[in-house]
Amino acid sequence: MIGTAESPLRVAIVGAGPSGFYAAAHLLKNRNHPELVASVDLFDKLPTPFGLVRAGVAPDHPKIKSVTRVYDKLAAHPLFRFYGGVEFGRDLSREELLERYHAVIYTVGAQSDRKLWVDGEDLPGSFPATTFVAWYNGHPDATDLQFDLSAERAVVVGNGNVAIDVARMLLLTQEELSTTDTADHGIEGIAGGGVKEVVICGRRGPAQSAFTNPEILELGEMDDVDVIVDPADLELDEHSAAALDQAGEATARKNVDILREYAARPLKGAPKRIVLRFFVSPVEIQGDGKVERVVLERNELVADGGALRAKPTGERETLEAGLVFRAVGYKGVELAGIPFEERSGLIRNEDGRVTNDAGTHLHGEYTAGWIKRGPSGVIGTNKKCATDTVNELLHDLTTGHLASPADPDPASLDALVRERVPNVVDWAGWQAIDAVETAAGEPQGRPRVKLVTLESLHEAATGAGAPA
Ligand SMILES: Cc1cc2nc3c(=O)[nH]c(=O)nc-3n(C[C@H](O)[C@H](O)[C@H](O)COP(=O)(O)OP(=O)(O)OC[C@H]3O[C@@H](n4cnc5c(N)ncnc54)[C@H](O)[C@@H]3O)c2cc1C
Repeated sequence: MIGTAESPLRVAIVGAGPSGFYAAAHLLKNRNHPELVASVDLFDKLPTPFGLVRAGVAPDHPKIKSVTRVYDKLAAHPLFRFYGGVEFGRDLSREELLERYHAVIYTVGAQSDRKLWVDGEDLPGSFPATTFVAWYNGHPDATDLQFDLSAERAVVVGNGNVAIDVARMLLLTQEELSTTDTADHGIEGIAGGGVKEVVICGRRGPAQSAFTNPEILELGEMDDVDVIVDPADLELDEHSAAALDQAGEATARKNVDILREYAARPLKGAPKRIVLRFFVSPVEIQGDGKVERVVLERNELVADGGALRAKPTGERETLEAGLVFRAVGYKGVELAGIPFEERSGLIRNEDGRVTNDAGTHLHGEYTAGWIKRGPSGVIGTNKKCATDTVNELLHDLTTGHLASPADPDPASLDALVRERVPNVVDWAGWQAIDAVETAAGEPQGRPRVKLVTLESLHEAATGAGAPA
């Protein structure tokens, strides 16, 4: 029987972000099924684990990053193996995994970004938030990117927490950055830039913004920064007011309260400013060889089948700005051979079971996290999401609907990976990287100094003699 000490349930998880770890946890330490014996191999294309907790969460939020301690504990489980630096689709194929595992769970997150689709979007000085965030967080794929931040005003398009993170990071001082694990090139670039004002633009109103309360509150606590909100934007239309009165809208209600307090607050005359604009969309980014101006169009809200949609009014204004960051959503990328919905950017699935175009479940294939449900929610949201998926998987185990691997021997997979990726990084290799980074951070009072190239990461991993 599969799932016993004699024949453990063999699961491959592709993507070592929060959803990958939560899926692994529910397989290895399942309180509802203490008798279940599963073994988990967790793959990541990077030599380092933790996905966006390492490469997305803002460096000035170290407490949030400490969630990784929970994942560290799980990694000590004897039936857990980590394979870092192994990319699905490049180093291993779907067929190769299904030959070796009873189930594969894809937890690869959302690796790309949504575009604005306006003229001038690709001018130098206009960037997706995804790459800027990856750059300041030391993601090795972003290390060689150049961000010239020598503009007085930056426009950030989007009304979620990523927009706020980008705005805040742009305005942090050298002193503030120097206690964080921001990549060294990020500290140099941001502190050496000249941004004094960040304008955050939302196409709908304050009641529709996707900020969470702590993030928006934090703006008002920044030293040397005035937060500016036009009180007129806070006069709610009847639909927004009614929506806010509904149960389940506590976050939105509090957001509006916080914004009202900002609108009423006297300015400190601070050297830097964050301006929160609502009901505006960029319609063109202009400039001679680089971003110089953004044309904004005013929107009004119209009720559209239960939702409130932004409708352009034709009223336009031009804002001088040298930088534009679009933070209008991360987007999933197709994995080789895995059914994908281009429009939503998600793996085709039903409650986490991967399905083909006809809606039929592909036995043994599952998904969780941002690539299953889209780029929203906090880290903890992925716990329920991954747990739900694993519950479906365990149900399919009882009904005999998993894959039937011809070669489930764990040693066979290990040999295949090491043949394909001789410098694969195992958990001990990651711990060696971690030790090098934290030791470098200690004398500077920083949590770590990140290694930002694949070469240096692999070097640190092998320094411990970790991978065979
Ligand atoms: C800028 C930003 C700031 C955030 N801040 C916060 C915050 O302060 N608090 C909070 O609670 N949440 C925050 N979040 C949200 C949180 O990071 C996500 O909810 C969470 O990381 C999503 O988890 P995931 O496992 O689905 O994806 P990810 O974390 O993206 O992990 C996916 C992993 O898959 C790997 N991968 C991708 N493709 C392949 C492949 N082909 N082969 C092998 N591996 C692959 C990637 O390298 C990555 O490690 C933030 C998100 C962003 C973008």
